[in-house]
Amino acid sequence: MGVARTKLNGLIFYQPSICCNGYTLFAPMDGRKVYLIDMQGNTVRQWRIPCSLGGTCELLPNSNLLCPGKVGDSPVAHLEGTTGHIFEMDRDNNIVWEYKEPHLHHNIRRLENGNTLVLKYIHVPPDVASRVKGGVGETADPMWADAIQEIDTSGKAVWEWVAYEHLDPEKDTICPICRKSEWTHATSVDVVDDDKLLVTFMRIHMVMMISRKTGEVTWRWGQGELAHPNEARMLHNGNVLVLDNGRHAPGIGLGFSRLIEVNPGNGAMVWSFQERIPFDFYTCFMGSVQRLRNENCLVCEAVTGRIFEITPHGDLAWEFVNPHRHKGTPEWGKHNFVYGARRYDHQDASVADEALIKAMETMKTQYRNDTSKVAQKVAATASSEEDKVRSRLADLGY
Ligand SMILES: [Zn+2]
Repeated sequence: MGVARTKLNGLIFYQPSICCNGYTLFAPMDGRKVYLIDMQGNTVRQWRIPCSLGGTCELLPNSNLLCPGKVGDSPVAHLEGTTGHIFEMDRDNNIVWEYKEPHLHHNIRRLENGNTLVLKYIHVPPDVASRVKGGVGETADPMWADAIQEIDTSGKAVWEWVAYEHLDPEKDTICPICRKSEWTHATSVDVVDDDKLLVTFMRIHMVMMISRKTGEVTWRWGQGELAHPNEARMLHNGNVLVLDNGRHAPGIGLGFSRLIEVNPGNGAMVWSFQERIPFDFYTCFMGSVQRLRNENCLVCEAVTGRIFEITPHGDLAWEFVNPHRHKGTPEWGKHNFVYGARRYDHQDASVADEALIKAMETMKTQYRNDTSKVAQKVAATASSEEDKVRSRLADLGY
């Protein structure tokens, strides 16, 4: 079982001997701070961005933070996952690079050459949109799909892949329960090799590999198996690890999420994880998955704010619930949703810098002192309130 049944926030469960110990980076939805915590749940570093967070963040090998933020005036704000602004911040919270484009959405990925892969919403031409199968209702005008772009450090697009030029309107069909306003809805992009990228397309229930050289889709998998996949990651063994949200799964009434490892060579599922009571692990959207160095998985169950680590056998190794609550839409009110999480163990360059580790330890000590002061203050307040009640009861003759 990979869930501790409790309403507590912060660190819930920790079994050090079976964990891939390190630091965990997480980005609360609608917040402005990104947190790096240790295995005990202590905040060891935090970054503050000038707008609301828009998606999963990454630490770069130089310890900088790569982070998507939301712009307020996006023309595609009505589409899920819109961001519009990317920040790279150094360890002292300075913005060292930024890129703004209102059609940006979801995931970003820094490449080894220093460029950045981004996802953008684009219009599908009406003659193509009218041929796209699936979905509910009339074809929207405009219908939206995705472009993937490589942006250099000056903000110039040096490579682009446009979904409607390479997908098949007859075969790459929209989820039968979703509206026809969007065709593809990419949610993640990862690097396979020098040529290929791995992309998750939520609306068509598929993960695909695409060739950067030819634009061709070289591998597509998921229809009939996946339901709103949110993230796919390339593994060192050549397999693909997918977080499948499990929303709108054909023929399945109850929503539940799964992790699936698939061999792209033959399409075989070689590993999977779901909870024994299926909806004990369910995030209807967002979330993340990461295969760790010891073969465990770090998972973000976005809509419960829960980040957990499981072994290959599905045993819980670590569990943490986001204690920070932020105001979302007026309908949702405050919530502790988390876009995604990443673990950096002690072999990762991102957290291996001695100065950074020293700074993080200092902050941890400060955090403990602050927490201790707050606890003393709460205890003192409680004590004085108790005295007042006793005094009032005494006045009444009790
Ligand atoms: Zn759907």
